[in-house]
Order: sequence, then structure tokens, then C-alpha cells
Amino acid sequence: MHYFFDPEISETSTHIAKSELVHFKSLRINASEEIVITSGKGYGFSAVVIDPATGQVELGRKLAGDPKVEIHLVQAIAKGGRDEAALQASTELGISSATALQAERSVSIWGSKKTKNIERWEQIAIAAIKQSQQLSLPKIEFAAGVSELKPVGAAFVLDPRAELQIGEVAPSMAYTVVVGPEGGFTELELEKLVDRGFTRVRLGDSVLRTSTAGVVAISCLQLMSGRFGQRLD
Ligand code: SAM
Repeated sequence: MHYFFDPEISETSTHIAKSELVHFKSLRINASEEIVITSGKGYGFSAVVIDPATGQVELGRKLAGDPKVEIHLVQAIAKGGRDEAALQASTELGISSATALQAERSVSIWGSKKTKNIERWEQIAIAAIKQSQQLSLPKIEFAAGVSELKPVGAAFVLDPRAELQIGEVAPSMAYTVVVGPEGGFTELELEKLVDRGFTRVRLGDSVLRTSTAGVVAISCLQLMSGRFGQRLD
């Protein structure tokens, strides 16, 4: 079943957002085909396509379901699209928000491109929820430095030199995960994060790319929180 995105979709809608017509075309969606339209706000609708050329649809059942584990990703801005790769895969796994962090060692500086880059992150997140068939779109935010970060739930900064391993943290239903840039965080940034309530956590013994680390951490936290079917006891 293909998922489409329309933040304005409601019980009375007869057409899907025009922006999705290109996607209809590229997927060769035909009349009578069943689809799902996600609002990105935790609900959506099953629908039957009446006319793919105009986006006319007949809405069916309302669908709802929020992610059970709330995860907030803070991803340091990184070069070569590694931050975007992290955002895409993390969104597929299920996150509530993604903050682009301008870290001290971020090689790429957003500066005047901030608004454009946030819009680009939003588009990546929309594509990822459609691909992974989710009803909730992560909120995209920006932080100019670690001092702007606020921990939500159990909050961790990923640090290859940390004593604590991720498997040793207590399960929670809300987490914040902070991932550093290619060159890692400075000691001052790590100190500031710890002062703000983030615990330094290690992911095994390998030093992972910034695009990999958050995805691994999120998978571990979801596993520990029962997302993949384990009993919570
Ligand atoms: N030399 C840098 C350092 O020691 O921090 C390596 C940075 S690593 C390429 C990029 C980011 O991924 C790190 O800042 C950290 O947030 C995360 N990371 C990579 N491997 C990790 C690990 N094994 N444990 C915890 N975090 C890791």
C-alpha cells in the first residue's frame, strides 16, 4: 500500500494535495487503487483513488497511531549528506523530532542557508514517513549550539569514550539522543551537555560514522523499550 502526504487531509476532503500528483504519476497510481493519506499529525485515512490525474479520492477509514516510544534526535550538521542520511534512516525507524545542531566541529555551516536547509530536512522526513508508512511527521528544529538543547526524557550524548554502554541504560518511553559531527564533540561541548542533563553513552567499541551512530542508538533504545516485541518487565 502506498502512502501519500497531505497535512490538510480531513474527513470532508475529496482531493489529495496537488503536491502529491507528481508522486501519483511516478508510482503509476491507477483509478480504484487503494492508498493511505497520512497527515503527519498522528492520523491519516485509507482512500480509493477516483481520478489519479486530478487527485480525486474517496476517503475510507480514519487511521490513528502515535509512536509508542518518543525519541528526539539531535544530529550535528555534517558534510557529504551524512546528516541527511541519518535523518532519513532515523525517521524510518520512528522519531518525534529531529534537531539540526550546528556543532563546533561541524564542517558545514548553515548560516544564511538555515531556512532552505530546514525545508530540505522537512522534505526528507516527509519522504521517509511515506516510505516507512507512518502517520506522524517528526518536527524539524535547529540549534545554533549545544547550549540551546533541552533534554526530553532520558537524554544521552553519544560519545565513543563514554564509560556507560547503551545496553546499561534504564528503559524509558522518552529519549533524547545527541549525535556529534565527523570530528566529534569538543570537551567543552560535552561538559555543557552533561551540565544540561545529558549522559555520555557509548555504542560498543567501534567508532561509527555520524550517519550510523544515531540509527544504531535509536534501534537499541527501541529494542530496549519493547518496540520490537519484547516484554517490558
Ligand atoms: N573522533 C571522534 C570522537 O572521538 O568523538 C569520532 C566522531 S564519530 C565519527 C561522530 C559521532 O558519532 C560522535 O561524535 C558520536 O556522537 C557518534 N559515535 C560514533 N561512534 C560512537 C560510539 N561507538 N559510541 C558513541 N557514539 C559514537
